[in-house]
Amino acid sequence: MEQKTLANWQREAAALSIEGRAFIDGEYRPASTTHRFDCRSPIDGGLLTQVADCGAPEVDLAVRAARHAFDAGVWAGLNPRVRKAILLRWAALMREHQDELALLETLDVGKPIADTTTVDVPGAIYCIEWFAEAIDKVGGEVVPADRHLVGLVTREPVGVVAAIVPWNFPLLMASWKFAPALAAGNSVVLKPSEKAPLTALRIAQLAHDAGVPAGVFNVLPGTGEPGKLLALHRDVDCVAFTGSTQVGKLIMQYAGQSNLKRVWLELGGKSPNIVMPDCPDLERAARSAAGAIFYNMGEMCTAGSRLLVHREIKDVFIDGLIAAARRYVPGNPLDPATSMGAIVDPAQLARVLDYIEAGRAEATLLHGGAQVLRESGGYYVEPTVFDVATPDAKIAREEIFGPVLSVITFDTIDEAVRLANDSDYGLAAAVWTSNLTTAHDVARRLRAGTVWVNGYDEGGDMNFPFGGYRQSGNGRDKSLHALEKYTELKSTLIRLR
Ligand code: NAD
Repeated sequence: MEQKTLANWQREAAALSIEGRAFIDGEYRPASTTHRFDCRSPIDGGLLTQVADCGAPEVDLAVRAARHAFDAGVWAGLNPRVRKAILLRWAALMREHQDELALLETLDVGKPIADTTTVDVPGAIYCIEWFAEAIDKVGGEVVPADRHLVGLVTREPVGVVAAIVPWNFPLLMASWKFAPALAAGNSVVLKPSEKAPLTALRIAQLAHDAGVPAGVFNVLPGTGEPGKLLALHRDVDCVAFTGSTQVGKLIMQYAGQSNLKRVWLELGGKSPNIVMPDCPDLERAARSAAGAIFYNMGEMCTAGSRLLVHREIKDVFIDGLIAAARRYVPGNPLDPATSMGAIVDPAQLARVLDYIEAGRAEATLLHGGAQVLRESGGYYVEPTVFDVATPDAKIAREEIFGPVLSVITFDTIDEAVRLANDSDYGLAAAVWTSNLTTAHDVARRLRAGTVWVNGYDEGGDMNFPFGGYRQSGNGRDKSLHALEKYTELKSTLIRLR
């Protein structure tokens, strides 16, 4: 098939009809019953549509519908084989609409279309398929017990799951929550970010078309308010949150203030990428280090935002890094040749530029540092690299969530490990070395949920659990372990005589 051009995508964008209403109990609810907010594209600041800003009435309605569906057993009560078939049908419908979904995602958050067509949308489809395929293959246990007893240990769906998700990989992060939750038999109320509601709203219709019963999958767009109301709701059994550490702390409090619902958090990061002097391939490592921070405009929880380089190889490594950074050229995200898109909105742009200003005062700017393409009306920033003299610098400690890299120099392995672990976060880390002992030793000592050796961010496979140590969160997305979050363990003891 011939690759689409910028003009093709622009034509398709102009012809799109974009849904902005909430999806509750199997149907879109007219936006007139709710407040609305403008949904603008970071590509050029243009208005895409107006989206429902849900409040207490919509939250109550959605939770009631979800509870009713759960109690009625229209989903939880199905043979897992049947749930699998419906979820696979949903995934197939998403594949049929893959270009439309990729286009919506690119328009909504400014990601390159080259990425939404190859990573975001196929990744979400794969996630749904993976959990659909898994659910009729995992069973319970018959456990050793007194000979008069039959001891069963089973997993049951937890009930109504609220999934509150961020804007950086809107569809993908949402799928990491709703796919295992639905596969396990729960009802879901999804609250997408106010900065990125469009794909979540679109796939709700596809879920319905695939046969997901009314009330089982609801989507409530809006600001933080519906998220807060869901996390405080007494009839929500579990809240699965991906977002900032700051809001993650609030979610725990809301659960404590209400019904002690289960709380699962995937939060921020400030991940270290360590390059030892015996790195097996400096050029590949430099390319990978650039990708670790400049892919998706640095709007990644796992961004390799702290590059720890051994003093002996620092100069040559930085030359390679900057050559690799030059390949990330901000441009129109609808152009298939664009490698770097727009920052999601003016607030995030201001945040990134503020950090760059702070960096100019406390570190040496090696590359980039400017806002570009202002004439487009959109929000674009160059890939930016700072040489940071002290690891205590603000840009080296705080999560920026933008294309800003701090380079930190070290002299010994122990110093590298100490610097790497000296963070409130613990989401991901990497080490580059040719020495097997160093690889195992450092990987073991790094306090992070994911550690790469001689690579960075090669985690597309659903088999790897994903999540953080420390203030990067608790619990894990992806893999069969994710099912544990959305199920309760039940012991059943049957007395025979
Ligand atoms: P955010 O915390 O501002 O918002 C996340 C979601 O929470 C949004 O839907 C938002 O509307 C909602 N929200 C805001 N205030 C709320 C409140 N008081 N109660 C309930 N919900 C509320 O985060 P963001 O800016 O959307 O995303 C960026 C953050 O997400 C970064 O810190 C990033 O590291 C993190 N993230 C983590 C992972 C991971 O898997 N660990 C993945 C992607 C993003």
